[in-house]
Amino acid sequence: MLITRRADFSASHACLHPELTEEQNREVYGEAANPHGHGHNFVAEVTLEGEPDPVTGMVFDLKKLKEIIHEEVVEPFDHRFLNREVPPFDRVVPTAENIAMEIWRRLAPHFPGPGARLHGVRLYETEDLFVEYSGEPS
Ligand SMILES: [Zn+2]
Repeated sequence: MLITRRADFSASHACLHPELTEEQNREVYGEAANPHGHGHNFVAEVTLEGEPDPVTGMVFDLKKLKEIIHEEVVEPFDHRFLNREVPPFDRVVPTAENIAMEIWRRLAPHFPGPGARLHGVRLYETEDLFVEYSGEPS
C-alpha cells in the first residue's frame, strides 16, 4: 500500500552552474539563470510504501511523517534562497530534479526498514511541472 503526505514551501533559486560563464548559463537555463533568483511555491509529495500494521491499521504514524518532512525539508528550505542558504545548492544547481533528489537523501535515513519504506518523492515546481524520484535503481 502507498500513502502520500504533501507539504509545501516557498523558496527562491537561480538555475546556474557556478563553473559556467553567465552566457553559457543563460544558454542552458534561460531566464531561470538570472543570478538574482526567482521564487516558487514548491509542493513536495512524499510517498511511503508498506503494509498497514495489523493492530494500528496504519502504514506509518502520519503525525511522525509530518514532523520528519517538516524538520528535514520545510524548516530548512522555506523562505530560503536555496543557492546561498541551503547546502548542497551552493555547488549543486537547484533544479527541481536536484531538489527532489536532495529531499530523498534527507528523508531516506528515517525509513531504514523493516516497516514502511520511502517509495518516492514528487516535487511540483509549478502546477504544470513536477519531477518524481524513487532513489537509485537497485
Ligand atoms: Zn525556477
